[in-house]
Amino acid sequence: GHELGGRYEIIERIGGGGMALVYKAHDILLGRNVAIKVLRQQFVHDEEFIRRFRREAQSAASLSHPNVVSIYDVGQEDEIHYIVMEYIEGYNLNEIIKERAPLQVEESVRIASQICDALDHAHQNQIIHRDIKPHNILIGRNGRVKVTDFGIARAVTSTTITQTGSVIGSVHYFSPEHAKGVNTGEKSDLYSLGIVLYQMLTATLPFLGESPISVALKHLQEDFDDPRDSNPLIPQSVENVILRSMRKNPQERYQSAKEMLKDLETCLLPERRNEPRIQFSE
Ligand code: ATP
Ligand code: MG
Ligand code: MG
Repeated sequence: GHELGGRYEIIERIGGGGMALVYKAHDILLGRNVAIKVLRQQFVHDEEFIRRFRREAQSAASLSHPNVVSIYDVGQEDEIHYIVMEYIEGYNLNEIIKERAPLQVEESVRIASQICDALDHAHQNQIIHRDIKPHNILIGRNGRVKVTDFGIARAVTSTTITQTGSVIGSVHYFSPEHAKGVNTGEKSDLYSLGIVLYQMLTATLPFLGESPISVALKHLQEDFDDPRDSNPLIPQSVENVILRSMRKNPQERYQSAKEMLKDLETCLLPERRNEPRIQFSE
C-alpha cells in the first residue's frame, strides 16, 4: 500500500480533536510503531493553521523529558501536513477518569507529580503548555505519564488570543487570567493541573455551567467546593496543594512548577497526612 513519506504505514486512527487527526502507524525504516498527527483537510489551505501546526511541533520538539511525548519527525506530502511522535500504548487520562474516578490518592498524586515534572521542564525552556487537561495526558501501560498536545503552547511572552481573536483551549481547565485573555504564564498551567488533580480525586469538576462563558465567569468570580467535601479520603495535605494551585490571584499560587512538585511529593509522606487546612489571608 501507500506509505506516508515513503516510510510510515498507517495502521488505524486513534484520536483527534478540532484541528488534527491522530493515527497509529508503523515506521518501516526503524521498525517501530509511531503516532502521526495530521492536520485536518479543511485547514490545509489556511496559512495560520499550518503555522500553528508547525509551532506545535517546534514547541514539543524543543523539549526532551521522560514525561513529555517525544517528537521524531515532521513532514508534508501533497496536502498532508504531519507530525511523527512517540507512540504511547495505553489510555489518555480522560478515558481513565471516565472509567474509574475517583482515583486513589496515591495514584492521583503520582500522576499529578509527573505532569508537574513535565511542566517544570517546559517552563524552564520558556514553553507554557496552556491546554493542560485529561485528554492531553497519556498514560502508558507501565503507568508512565506523558504530556502531549502543545497545540496552543507559546513562548512565555505572548498572549492567549489567536489572530482571529478567539480564546482557545478547554474552558473547564482555564485559569482566571486565561479566561480573561490576559497574562497567561507558568502559573496558568499550575491552575489547570490543580483542576486535573481535583477531578481525578472527586470525579467531578470544580466549575460546571450551561455555556463556556458561564464556566469562564465562575473561574473568575466563584468559589468552589472543597474536594474533601465530596471525597473525605483526600488527605488535608493534598487538598492544600489543590487550594494553593487554584488561587484566583496567580501571585498566591505556587511560584513555580518545581515548588508545586516538591509539595506533591511530600504529600505521599505519612507525617503530612494530618496537617491543618491551608489558610489564605483575605
Ligand atoms: P484536541 O485539540 O481535542 O485536544 P488534538 O487534535 O489536539 O485534540 P491530541 O490531543 O494531540 O489531538 O490527540 C488526540 C488523542 O489522540 C489523545 O487524547 C490520545 O487519545 C491520542 N493520542 C495522541 N497522541 C498520541 C500518542 N503519541 N500515542 C498514543 N495516543 C495518542
Ligand atoms: Mg488534545
Ligand atoms: Mg490540541
